[in-house]
Amino acid sequence: MNELPEQINEFGEKRRKGFVTIKNLKDEGKKVVGVFCAFTPKEVIAAAGAIPIGICGTSEEPIQDAEKHLPRNLCPLIKSSYGFAITNKCPYTYFSDLIVGETTCDGKKKMYEMLGKIKSVHVMQLPQTTKGEDSYKLWKNEIIKLKEKVEKEFNVEITEENLKDAIKLKNIERETLKEFYELGKMMPPPILGMDILKVLRGAAFSYDKEEEIKTIRNMTKNIKEAYKKGENKVLSSAKRILVTGCPLGESTDKIINTIEQNGGVVVCFENCGGVKDIGFLVDETIDPIDALTSKYLNIACSCMTPNDNRIELLSQLIDEYKVDGVVDVILQACHTYNVETYRIKEFVTKEKNIPYLSIETDYSQTDIGQLKTRIGAFVEMI
Ligand code: SF4
Ligand code: SF4
Repeated sequence: MNELPEQINEFGEKRRKGFVTIKNLKDEGKKVVGVFCAFTPKEVIAAAGAIPIGICGTSEEPIQDAEKHLPRNLCPLIKSSYGFAITNKCPYTYFSDLIVGETTCDGKKKMYEMLGKIKSVHVMQLPQTTKGEDSYKLWKNEIIKLKEKVEKEFNVEITEENLKDAIKLKNIERETLKEFYELGKMMPPPILGMDILKVLRGAAFSYDKEEEIKTIRNMTKNIKEAYKKGENKVLSSAKRILVTGCPLGESTDKIINTIEQNGGVVVCFENCGGVKDIGFLVDETIDPIDALTSKYLNIACSCMTPNDNRIELLSQLIDEYKVDGVVDVILQACHTYNVETYRIKEFVTKEKNIPYLSIETDYSQTDIGQLKTRIGAFVEMI
């Protein structure tokens, strides 16, 4: 276990360290596609030989610049992403040959209009509901349109074989990451939730997928072996917390750290970038476009109405991870997740009979004192 913290930290640094790599890949002629959301079928991009890369802003730094164009009372993720684009401060956005967005929440889709003035942007029209044939047809058509857009933009042909290969590799990556984050099911878990998050984050910025899969499998194996020998970072008395809600980024690490410094351990991340996203494979036995349509249409995002998939997923995860309490993270001005807090609270407290806490926050660090008080009291009460 001795070298593991270092290995995890190093892997978690992939975003920061990947700047040079992405520049070199661009110099070699590789195409880069910036993506914002779990709904983007990354396999279509990978099948074209391009690199899909997450460009969601997770830092407070460019928000002031973004507010010159965008309203202040907008979700920090949208402002940060736009701020990075207009200031050229994010190399991933800067190097993107194409940006793919979806009509998820209102703030994002209006921001894409503005982003389209400075970058090449393709927006996928997302249905408002996962249910029914109309939604399915619409989303399938949008996936076909994305495929055609990528083919035209990069002058390539995406064959059925290319798509199947990309799906296969992405599924192996998902299974590998799943085996890693499922370490959280152990009682007590062998590593902190913050460590799990670092690895999930690092994976999103690994361009050599074969190498990434090998490294993560190795890490999982080493952690399990060390655990068997009694090496463990987490006290068995730590309260097992599931985190749900808006996407997490470096600026919201304050919440995870506060939970873990106050007697809790995050055993499961339901958010995008966690189970909601990675936990579901693409069916390799059916037509690849149909398989991508079903997988991506069913993401348990609050943009969907109703969003029953989130309730079903939470129910399953609370049982599987033996969760003691749920923390729902809401980014300021995220109306869809904010409105859903009532339904989630009712479900968690009345049907699953465990405590629930919702936290509304932004990317500033000014609420750390308040977070300590609220989270500390929540964990103590469990
Ligand atoms: S929470 Fe919804 S809108 Fe945000 S990244 Fe996830 S799927 Fe996309
Ligand atoms: S966190 Fe909410 S408001 Fe912000 S981009 Fe995602 S869905 Fe939109």
